[in-house]
Amino acid sequence: MKLRCSFCGKDQHSVKTLFKGLTQKESLVTVYICDDCIRQCNDRLRRDKMIQAEADAVESLKRLPPPVEVKEALDEYIISQERTKRVVAVAVHNHYKRLMHNMAAKEVEIEKSNILLIGPTGSGKTLIAQTLAGILDVPFAIADATTLTQAGYVGEDVENILLRLLQNANGDKERAERGIIYIDEIDKIAKTTTNVSITRDVSGEGVQQALLKILEGTKANVSPTGGRKHPHQEFIQLDTTNILFICGGAFSGLEKIIERRVSHYFMGFNAELRTKDSSTRMAELLPKVNFYDLHNFGLIPEFIGRFPIIATLAPLEEDELIDILVQPKNSLVKQYQKLFALDGIDLTFSEDALRSIAKLASKRQTGARGLRSILEGFMLDIMYDLPQRSEGSTACHIDSAVVTEEKPPEYFAVPKEESA
Ligand code: ADP
Repeated sequence: MKLRCSFCGKDQHSVKTLFKGLTQKESLVTVYICDDCIRQCNDRLRRDKMIQAEADAVESLKRLPPPVEVKEALDEYIISQERTKRVVAVAVHNHYKRLMHNMAAKEVEIEKSNILLIGPTGSGKTLIAQTLAGILDVPFAIADATTLTQAGYVGEDVENILLRLLQNANGDKERAERGIIYIDEIDKIAKTTTNVSITRDVSGEGVQQALLKILEGTKANVSPTGGRKHPHQEFIQLDTTNILFICGGAFSGLEKIIERRVSHYFMGFNAELRTKDSSTRMAELLPKVNFYDLHNFGLIPEFIGRFPIIATLAPLEEDELIDILVQPKNSLVKQYQKLFALDGIDLTFSEDALRSIAKLASKRQTGARGLRSILEGFMLDIMYDLPQRSEGSTACHIDSAVVTEEKPPEYFAVPKEESA
């Protein structure tokens, strides 16, 4: 008796392979399937999967927050830097929109929209990248460009950045491939030759070359254990095509390069600019940055080309530093107030105290970064003996003498009806 495929009916001699189904004891019939039918089933399943992916992409697209919402969410954490927040909100929205679209329609190539953030230390570059990842609920990793080396040199392999992202995605490769990587101190890998006034790592160009590939999109081999690569090692292949890279740096000295260029074209611009302080000059000059300035600074053209979006951040002024202390959702003052509230104490700061903290931070020239350590400096002593000193009190007020003269704060009891 000739055996036949139970699906298409072809006999065993007209097909390449005929597979026999497992026959249950109680069943009287045995089923067979030919290789041709299996292929057709596979095609069908693949098609269904693509249709599903397309539907999922459309669904995700509906959930993708529009630029206005991204900007509003950024506003909750990041003070000032309005233009930058707008630019990155649009860039990030477009990046994920293209990504969803590409997932659905394989034939369209995604155009990478990596972002370069230029601004002084402590102006919010890392915070913007980190907050974006939170808003979009994608994995996030931070790397420091100064620790990177080109392959074969002592230091960290560029691929290790990807490993960090994979780890932060709890090993979920697909999620990691849609994540955000922030590379800090990117200005430190500029080559020194074109701008001798700034001393930097001479191996800069090699690192820029090494980064090029992962920035534009490649299938990188990531060692699951990290460290240097060696033969006979198992790798996880991570596609970097859809990973959004945000690189940031202070680019100190860049404003001078821009100034030289613009003053060449606009007579009088220079004279007017010279009357302003350095932070105002930087705030006015940095947004004028272009491709040639970055090239003059020491970035190679191919590297600059990987950043279609360039946004600049202004140095933070004293008033903005005060806002940073109190306004963000998780501001330092709010965090301390919460901590004190757990002990039943209502913590307040005078306007003068906040201004004194901002003034001290301004002096350090580390932007908002200095705020935390200044605050921690005197809050630590206050918290040390808080339980004893606050005995019977329900409120603690900090004025500028606490900040500048290390005086103890004022504790007092607020009558119930007043505090209600
Ligand atoms: P950088 O520009 O050097 O990357 P960061 O983003 O790391 O600076 O900022 C350091 C810290 O200072 C942040 O964690 C945040 O608390 C605070 N900070 C800096 N800029 C801002 C800002 N614009 N708004 C709110 N907080 C800020």
